[in-house]
Amino acid sequence: PEMFKALDASMIGRAARDGIISLDVRNIRDYSRDKRKRTDDTPFGGGPGMLMTAQPIDDALKDLEAERKPVLYLSPRGDVMDQKLLEEIAAEEEIVLLAGHYEGVDQRILDKWNIKEVSIGDYILTGGELPAMVLIDAVTRLLPGVLASRDSALEESVYSGLLEYPQYTQPRNYEGMEVPEILLSGDHRKIHLWRMEQALILTKKKRPEMFEEFVKNPGGFAKDEQKVIEKVRHLL
Ligand code: SAM
Repeated sequence: PEMFKALDASMIGRAARDGIISLDVRNIRDYSRDKRKRTDDTPFGGGPGMLMTAQPIDDALKDLEAERKPVLYLSPRGDVMDQKLLEEIAAEEEIVLLAGHYEGVDQRILDKWNIKEVSIGDYILTGGELPAMVLIDAVTRLLPGVLASRDSALEESVYSGLLEYPQYTQPRNYEGMEVPEILLSGDHRKIHLWRMEQALILTKKKRPEMFEEFVKNPGGFAKDEQKVIEKVRHLL
C-alpha cells in the first residue's frame, strides 16, 4: 500500500482531494488466515517461484463486495491497455484492481470472480502496483474536472487515432532553431490543417498499422481535412 502514496504527489492526488476519485488500497496480507500471515505458496506441478494463494484474495474481494464490480487483474497475460479500454474503465462507477506478486495468482481466483486480465505492455515487472498506478493515472485524467479542459485530452496522441503533431513554445528562436512559420500566422484553420498533416505523417512513419486504421474510416472530416488525409495517404 505504501507504493500508492506516490500518487498523492501528482494530479491524481489532487483529483482524490477534490473528490473526483477515491482510492481504497488494501493490504492482501491483512486478509490471510494463516497464522504467519502468508499469502503465497509453491505451485502444484513444480516450477520456479511462488504463487499468491486463493484465500486472502477471495476474502479481500468479498470484503470489497466485488461481485457487483468489474475486477481487473494487472497481468502480462492480459489485453494490452489502450485508450479505448481505458475509456471503458473510466465509464465505470467503481472498479477493483488486483496487483499480483511473485509468479502470479492461483488460477481458481481468476475463474471464480470472472476477473479480466489487463497488461501495460509486453515486459515483466516484479509486481502489479506500478501497472495499477498506470491504469489509475490514465483513467483519472479522462474524468471531467481533472484536466484543465476536456479538449486537452481529446487533442492528444492516440486519442484521435493519430500520434500527436510537434509542438513549440517560447522562445521563437532557440539556438538558431526557428518555430515553424505557420504557427505564428494566426490563421487557425491553416494551423489546424498543418497540425493534422504533421500528425498523419508521423503516424504513417512510426505506426503504419495505426495510420491504416485511421484512413480506413475517415468519416466526419471537412473537405479541406479530407484533402490533407488523401495527400498524406499518397505520400511514399
Ligand atoms: N509469471 C508471470 C507471467 O509470466 O505472466 C509474471 C508475474 S510478475 C513477476 C508479478 C506480477 O507483476 C504479476 O502478477 C502482475 O500483477 C504484475 N505484472 C508484471 N508485469 C506486468 C505487466 N506487463 N502488466 C501488468 N502487470 C504486470
